[in-house]
This record gives sequence, C-alpha cells and structure tokens, in this order.
Amino acid sequence: MQVLKFGGTSVGSPEAIQKVIEIVKEKISKEPVIVVVSAFGGITDALLDCGLQAARGQEQYKEQVNLITTRHLNAVKELIPIQQQSSMLSAVKKLCNEVEDLCNGIFLLGEMTARTRDKLVSYGELISSQVINNAFLAKGILTTWWDSRKLIRTNSDFGKATLDTETTVENFSEIMKELATDLVIMPGFIASDPNGITTTLGRGGSDYTAAIAAAAIGATSLEIWTDVSGMMTADPRWVPNAKVIPTISYQEAMELSHFGAKVIYPPTIQPVMNKSIPVWIKNTFAPSDAGTLIQQDSYRNGTPVRGISSISNLALLSLEGSGMVGVPGFSRRLFEALSSQQINVILITQGSSEHSICVGVDTSTADKAKLAVDEAFAPEINLQQVDPLVVEKELSIVALVGEQMKSHPGISGKMFGALGRNGVNVRAIAQGSSERNISAVIATLDVRKAINLLHEEFFETVNKQVNLFISGVGNVGSKLLAQLAQQQQYLLHHMRLQLRVVGLANSKRTLINEEGIDLNKWKELLAAAPESTIETFTDGIIQRNLRNSVFVDITASEVVASVYGKLLDKSIAVVACNKIACSSPFKYYRELKDKAHDFNTQFLFETNVGAGLPIIGTLNDLLRSGDRINRMEAVLSGTLNFVFNHYDGSRPFADVVRQAQDEGYTEPDPRLDLSGTDVMRKIMILAREAGETLEMDSIHNNSFLPASCMEGTVEDFYKEMLRLEDHFRSIYDAAAAKGCKLKFVASFKEGKAAVGLQEIPTGHDLSNLFGKDNIVLFYTDRYPQQPLVIKGAGAGADVTASGVFADILRATLN
Ligand code: ADP
Ligand code: ASP
Ligand code: MG
Repeated sequence: MQVLKFGGTSVGSPEAIQKVIEIVKEKISKEPVIVVVSAFGGITDALLDCGLQAARGQEQYKEQVNLITTRHLNAVKELIPIQQQSSMLSAVKKLCNEVEDLCNGIFLLGEMTARTRDKLVSYGELISSQVINNAFLAKGILTTWWDSRKLIRTNSDFGKATLDTETTVENFSEIMKELATDLVIMPGFIASDPNGITTTLGRGGSDYTAAIAAAAIGATSLEIWTDVSGMMTADPRWVPNAKVIPTISYQEAMELSHFGAKVIYPPTIQPVMNKSIPVWIKNTFAPSDAGTLIQQDSYRNGTPVRGISSISNLALLSLEGSGMVGVPGFSRRLFEALSSQQINVILITQGSSEHSICVGVDTSTADKAKLAVDEAFAPEINLQQVDPLVVEKELSIVALVGEQMKSHPGISGKMFGALGRNGVNVRAIAQGSSERNISAVIATLDVRKAINLLHEEFFETVNKQVNLFISGVGNVGSKLLAQLAQQQQYLLHHMRLQLRVVGLANSKRTLINEEGIDLNKWKELLAAAPESTIETFTDGIIQRNLRNSVFVDITASEVVASVYGKLLDKSIAVVACNKIACSSPFKYYRELKDKAHDFNTQFLFETNVGAGLPIIGTLNDLLRSGDRINRMEAVLSGTLNFVFNHYDGSRPFADVVRQAQDEGYTEPDPRLDLSGTDVMRKIMILAREAGETLEMDSIHNNSFLPASCMEGTVEDFYKEMLRLEDHFRSIYDAAAAKGCKLKFVASFKEGKAAVGLQEIPTGHDLSNLFGKDNIVLFYTDRYPQQPLVIKGAGAGADVTASGVFADILRATLN
C-alpha cells in the first residue's frame, strides 16, 4: 500500500484536482492507496484571517466566510455532474455554516483560543477531503473517506500537537482490517486529543499526517505531491537557478526542512525514516518529472553540499559576563529560563572562553526571552558578574546542508570566503558535530544575496553573475559598453561569467535594471531615465545589495571620486579610470586601499597611468613576487609626446599645441598637460604603488613653460605661447644641434620623483616613441641593467576602455 499526499496548490483548483485524479487512478491500478489532502490552497490562511477579524470585532469576517463558501461550492459544481451535486452542495454549505457559527462565537467573545483556532482551521481539510472524495466517486472510482481525527491521536497541545504513536498505530490497524476499497481518502493536518477534541499538527502538517499514516500501515512508499519537481538545492523563490536534488538522505532532508525548505514539513521524515519507507517529492503539474527520492543512503557521489536553506525572523540572544567563566550551570540556567517560557532554541554557539553564550530564537519570542533570562540571572546582573541579556533582531540563518561535508575539508572556508567577499557580515556560526549542517547568522537584508552567492559557489559551475554599475558614458564609457556587449557571450562560455550592467549613470541621469541593461539600446534608455545624482546612484547600489557588485568610474569628476569609500565599506569593488582619488593626498589614497583590503574587495585603477598598458599590474606583480623597484624612467604624456614629435620650428609651437587640442589629445585646459601636472600625478601614483609615501608638492617639476603662460584664459595662453615662440625654438634648436629629441620624462629614484623636458639621444630607450606612445622602464633588483620595458599607445578611448575592462575582470575573479 502506498500513501500519496497532495498539497494546497495540488488541490487548489478544479483543474488541479482533475490532475490529482489522473495520478491516483494510475496508482490504484497497481496497489491500494491512501490519499491525504491539504485544504485548497490559501484556505487555511483565509480561515485564520476570519477568526482573527472576528476576534478583533471586525465584521468583515462575514464577507470572508462567504468567499470561502463560494470557492468550495464552485469546486463542487465543476467537479461533480449536476445530477449528483445536491447532496455535496448541502454538505459543503452545512460545514461552511459551522465555520460561520464558530466565527460568530469568536466575535461575541472577542477572543480566539488555540483550541478554537484548531477547530476553525480544521474545516479547510475537512471540506477539501470530502469534495475530493466525491469527485473520485463521480468518476466511478470507489473510495472510503476516513476522518483523520478518528485515527490520529495527539496530546492537547493545540496548534502544534504531538503524536500518541501507540494509539494511532492501533487505530490504523483496526481500520486496515476492514479495508473495503483500493482508495482511502483522508484529510491532512487534523487529529484529535484523548477527549476527541480537534487538534492540528502545525502549519504544513498534512505532510506529517501522510507520514504518520505511511508508518502506521508500513506503506511501500510515501509520495508528497506538490507544485515543484522535487526538493531543490535552494528555495526556488529566492534562487532562480535552483536545481532539483535527485536523491537525498533522510537526515539531509530533515536538516534542510528544519532550516527552512518549506517543501516538506520538518517532523514528516521521522516516522518514515524509522521504518525505512522511501519518500518521493513529486510535481502534480509535471508528473513525469523524476522528482526527489528521500531514502536511507544518499548517493555518495555528487556534491558534498546538498542544499542551502534559510530561516528568517531570527533573534540572537547573547549572555555575557566574566562571572560565567569556568562556573558550571550557567547554560543549564539559561536553557531552563527559556524552556520555562516554551521558547524554542534554533541555534546555539558558545566561545571556548566560556565568556558568552549565544542562542538564536524566533523573533516573536525574543522579548519574552529577555524578561525570563534577566530575571533568572538577576543576582549575577546586580553583582555585575553577568550583563543583561543582549537581544538583536532582524537576523536570519543561512545553512549549508550535506552529509558528505564532513569528509570534504574547506567547505566552511569557501562558504565564509564567499560571504566575506560580498560584504555579508556573519554574526554567529554554528556547525553541528555531525557536520551535516553549517549555519551562519546574518542580517535578514543580506539573505537573498547570501543564498544566491552560496548557490553560485556550490552548485553553479556554469555561471558567476557579476553586477556592474558604471558612472560616465563619454568617449571611454561608450567604448567600454560596446566592448562589454561584444564580449558577453565569450565571457559566459569561456570564463563562466555573466557580466551584466545593472546601473548606468551620466552627470544627470541614472538607469537601473536588475535584469541587466540592454547594451544595444543603452543610449535611448539612459536618455529616458529619471534624473539623479551620484549620491542617489550609490545609495541605490548599496541598498540593492547585489552579489559581486563592481562600481566603475569613467568620469573625471571629483564628486564621483569621493564616493569610493562608502562603496568599499560595503565590499563593492571599485574600478577607477578617474585619476583624482589616487592622486589626491596620500592619506585618502591609503584609506581607500586599506578599505579594499579590510572589506575583502578590490580597488583597481590600472588606466590611471598609460591607459590600457599593463603598468600598475606589472609593478604589483614584481613587488608581490619579491622584487624591488629601484628606479623608474617614463614618458607618460601622450599630449607632450605628440607636441614634441610634431614641433620642428617650421611652424609656431602654439600651432602644434592647437592641433593636439583639436585632435583630442589634451585636457580641456592644455596647460594641465603642458605644465607637466598630469605627468606628476602619474609618476606619483606609480611611486605610491611602489611603496613610497609621496605628495604632489614633493615632486620636482622642471617645467619648460614660462610662468607667464599660466596666467589668464586658455586663449591668453595661446597668445602668450606665440609671443614666446623664440623660447620654444631655442629649446628645440639646442636639442637638434646635439642630434637629440625632446621628451618630457618622469623619473623616480631613491624615493624622489621628478618630471621635466630632457634631450634624448637617438638610440636611447626613450627616444623611439611615436604618436601617443607611452613608455615605462622599470629598473629593479631582477632587472638591474636592462630595464623591464612597457611601451605602447598611452591614450585613446578604445585602449583605455580595454584597460578598464581588464580591471573589471580582475575585480570579479577575486
Ligand atoms: P504544498 O502546499 O504542496 O505542501 P508548500 O508550499 O508547503 O507546498 O511547499 C512547496 C514550496 O516550497 C515550493 O513551491 C517552493 O516555493 C518552496 N520551497 C522552499 N524551499 C524549497 C526547496 N529547497 N526545494 C523545493 N521547494 C522549496
Ligand atoms: N492546510 C495546512 C496549512 O496550510 C496544512 C497543509 O497544507 O499541509 O498549513
Ligand atoms: Mg507544505
């Protein structure tokens, strides 16, 4: 004999019930079946609601009762042919009238006791099971309807009664002897106490009813039919990529359900496990899907982590105090205080110093717990040996479950590493010595992110989702978006990265789409997006709390550079093309680097020097592998290179500068480039990365621009250059006479940095530079005579965008 249980959604509509009938018909052709049914989906909640409204004196409960009645009557009308309807219709009406009478009573009394509540909600299963029974009869299938209250005996703990196993088994064996049909139908969830008063087995309790029945009759198997195709690696409502677990052990299933996997009511496993009855989780709406088999042994192969689940509404209670160390009996008194108030403890941790004990309880019981514990420890609290109980709310537990975790080292490391990298703060940890479960207490706000990233870490070998927030869509920004669009498929296939641009902002507007912005239409979408500031953009990033978030700054804005700190604080990686942060006072630069380190994230700015050239990355690789930077020589200004490559005295210096500006190689005020300020910033960043504490004012600048050029507007500057043409000409002639080229060189040696124009002889490493080329020579312990040379285009939107792209990848592969 088999036991099949159909849940609320499986019997939630007449169409669903037709599916149930098909499934059961096929089963009874092979062996007798007991079918346990839930109330129609949503009815238990609706009944509870009626009771609550009535108790509060709100007369709307009557309308609600009417809705419940109509829903059941309609089901009868759809499932049973007209000729046979009347008796069932009047039976349903009678039961619904009883519901109304009960509610009237509650209304008059102004209260609903636990016992009355059980009576009230029992009607959900009572009615559904009778309607379904009649639907089978109407199809010509013989059935017997059993009232579970005559079979399942519990104590009088209303709301969550516990089983009297012996009487229950006895009752079942009596009935079994007289089994008259191949199909028995019974209501789930409800039972009765020794006085015959209706009790219930707790929310979700129909699963338990079915397991009790299966154990009592020694069923060949128990099948839980629901609305998903099995027990899944995580709650599918939280994790869209959750997968069905093909087989799982009783212990694992129990652990997962205790830790929030609602698909099965936790007490369900015990009775069937004791009798080694296999349990299947099957989908009523996709009956041919394999489902999940729960049995004694789960397969040894496969992943050591079977599933991830979570419990919300957790409060953490911490009892601390020096008076607790080494004194026996503190835990006993704590737990006694809690149990005296019937407070269920979900999780326990105690540090080895014994200085504190921390327990997790349901938030609804936290205040009661505080009163009880503070009272129990009043003497010690008065003597300041123990602190008053500390209660923290709005917490949740996320748990990894798997029997094989004990034989796989490194799982908690991986779990906490993933949480840490994403700024999920872990408040408490518990790992049972069975090592079947590792639990972490985290803020409820972080649960969605945590479950998804743990799922990614342990189950998704295919995809790691990365969420990008980009500020700045000018030349470089647009190129980056084009490159991202072009590479999305490649990254998915070759690097298992799903890069999505979730946020995009210019100085006026912000576009956000959590599903990922369509990169072929970003211009139109951004133009139509709401106005916003960088503050609202960054607050939005923090508040969304998405895993693997990266903020990318492709602006030249000081305000944007000022938000990095608060993002890094939340473990959001920052990739900056913007040079302002790294060239601001050393203290700010250091603070950002430290934050990235402390919050386990990345602050990357390769494109601050030499655009896409791998300069900072190489420097870091050298240092990390134990080399030392002794000297750097570099040409780091595309603008100055252009100017000195084109100036030969045949036309005025001012004209060549004008051409450089027209072709887009200069800052809007070209004096920033020509004065060497930009080069100073770059050599300072390199020196800082090499470990020096350097500020702008300690860099020597041997400028070739006479002071008078720095006065007035940009146009005044051009006029002044024309007036000073002889000055520029003489510099050029002096170099040419020696067969040298002019290069604006940045150097760093013995802790000192300097920039300035130099005459470079042909054949020198720095001489062979064309167009916008940059070059850096690193003289190190390992490259003492012949330097390590990095050379190539040091400006241009395409190469800069690709440098930013590379930083993004580095940040995400962290
Ligand atoms: P029923 O009414 O059939 O008893 P429930 O709503 O009690 O169904 O349980 C099924 C639901 O459990 C699914 O629809 C799913 O949203 C939720 N659920 C939570 N965690 C899991 C999990 N790990 N695997 C499958 N379903 C889960
Ligand atoms: N109808 C009950 C509830 O919603 C029992 C069940 O469906 O399992 O809790
Ligand atoms: Mg359920």
